Amino acid sequence: MPTSNSIVWFRRDLRAFDHAALHHALRDAVQNGGEVYCVFVFDTDILAGLPRNDRRVRFIHACLAELDAELRRLGGGLIVRHGAARDSLPRLAAELGAGTVYVNGDYEPDAIARDAAVASALALEGRRLLVFKDGVVFEKNEVLTLSKGLYSVFTPYKNAWLKRLASQPEAVAPWMIEPYAAALAPLLEASLPTLPELGFDDGPLPAPAGMSGATQLFEAFLPRLADYGTARDFPGLSATSQLSIHLRFGTTSVRHLVRTLQQMMALGAGGAGAPVWLSELIWREFYAMILFQHPHIAGRSFKPAFDAVEWEAGDTARELFAAWCEGRTGYPLVDAAMAQLNTTGFMHNRLRMVTASFLVKDLGIDWRWGERYFARQLNDYDMASNVGGWQWAASTGCDAQPWFRIFNPVTQSQKFDARGVFIRQYLPQLATLDARDIHAPWLVPADELEACGIVLRKDYPWPVVDHGEARQKTLERFAVVKAAR
Ligand code: FAD
Repeated sequence: MPTSNSIVWFRRDLRAFDHAALHHALRDAVQNGGEVYCVFVFDTDILAGLPRNDRRVRFIHACLAELDAELRRLGGGLIVRHGAARDSLPRLAAELGAGTVYVNGDYEPDAIARDAAVASALALEGRRLLVFKDGVVFEKNEVLTLSKGLYSVFTPYKNAWLKRLASQPEAVAPWMIEPYAAALAPLLEASLPTLPELGFDDGPLPAPAGMSGATQLFEAFLPRLADYGTARDFPGLSATSQLSIHLRFGTTSVRHLVRTLQQMMALGAGGAGAPVWLSELIWREFYAMILFQHPHIAGRSFKPAFDAVEWEAGDTARELFAAWCEGRTGYPLVDAAMAQLNTTGFMHNRLRMVTASFLVKDLGIDWRWGERYFARQLNDYDMASNVGGWQWAASTGCDAQPWFRIFNPVTQSQKFDARGVFIRQYLPQLATLDARDIHAPWLVPADELEACGIVLRKDYPWPVVDHGEARQKTLERFAVVKAAR
């Protein structure tokens, strides 16, 4: 069985620049001989759980079309397969005479298990899987405390992360591709199946796709970077980068983003917003490290004492959960946020915090129900950040919101959407209410509502819970945690 060729297996790294696995495969091939095949597998183990109209599959499909075109420009092309990756990869390696499969690491528990299965199958035939760091600047145990322990609090982790980058600037150096591109195996035919062939529907893309989409969003964001720190919390403003879907699917490189920020900061550009945005990129790495080191958090509390919290159950809980999912809680900011999620697949960060807090601390529902719902709906769904965000809101996570701190959905609305710009966009039935009334329509006298053409319970729901009462219940629910100390 020939083994001089190699494969680069693309997964959540759909780009042809600054790509660690591709760089290493090409460089090794230039030095040792053999050709490099680029491969993507539409993994039926993952696709099986998705609806036909999944926005992310459409996004990936468009990214692959661009990746294939770019690889062809460089002299290669993309082989696309549809099947279980654990079978397809070893089979392809045999067909292509590939002795080594190069991948960029993925820190989610299921991906780690899949990679272990692929590595074992390859090893049975004397082939190997080589894993590289690519999706983060620092991974696993690269950022440690002075006593070589793991961090579980963000700010000291961030300070250590920044210190490490200052002493190791090459950590964000780009992985070169073009100088070694001659080792790419040229492909004659395109093999990207259509969406219907994969069992999915054509439809609009949730964001500009591919490397070009990421570049477009980043370039549009940079002029707004200086204001990021002050504007990022207001969902009615277009103040954040919207790059999360691109970081999720690797159409941009985090090293490229950090390098750009460094260069801007060195020139005094990017203002007060640049370090704040860098902090957000570090939060992403913090959560990736936490998930890798503590994989149990995918389904259990980071802090075990919180597993004793008893959540609401039964029909009432299921009805309240359905009201939350469908944006009919009667709290306009929560409902507008859920409408944004359900119609676009995106939700602003402040609103992720508000809706998650509302589910857990106003409705008393298990954070895992909400985490799973977000996982199905979010275009940028990333297990580490999603579980991290949910456990933060539920107070069960590391460096989380204290359990006795409970967002008030009305004051959050008054503070972060004061004029109701965001609410009006997603709840047009409330658009006639003025800025004072739009945050809590049930407090508006009936004649005023009537003058605005709104009948509560018909045009918009009455609140499903009273926040004051819910707050009290939550403090009692979480008292078990105090007792456990
Ligand atoms: P920007 O504000 O422009 O930030 C730049 C990048 O930094 C983001 O693209 C993202 O990669 C990273 N980032 C920003 N905030 C956070 C954060 N709090 N935690 C981790 N990384 C961050 N983010 C996801 O990418 N996927 C998820 O599944 C996800 N689920 C979340 C669930 C909850 C309950 C909460 C509270 C937050 C969640 N986040 C998640 C984090 C955050 O809400 C999104 O990353 C952000 O809203 C994406 O918008 P943006 O790209 O415009 O972000």
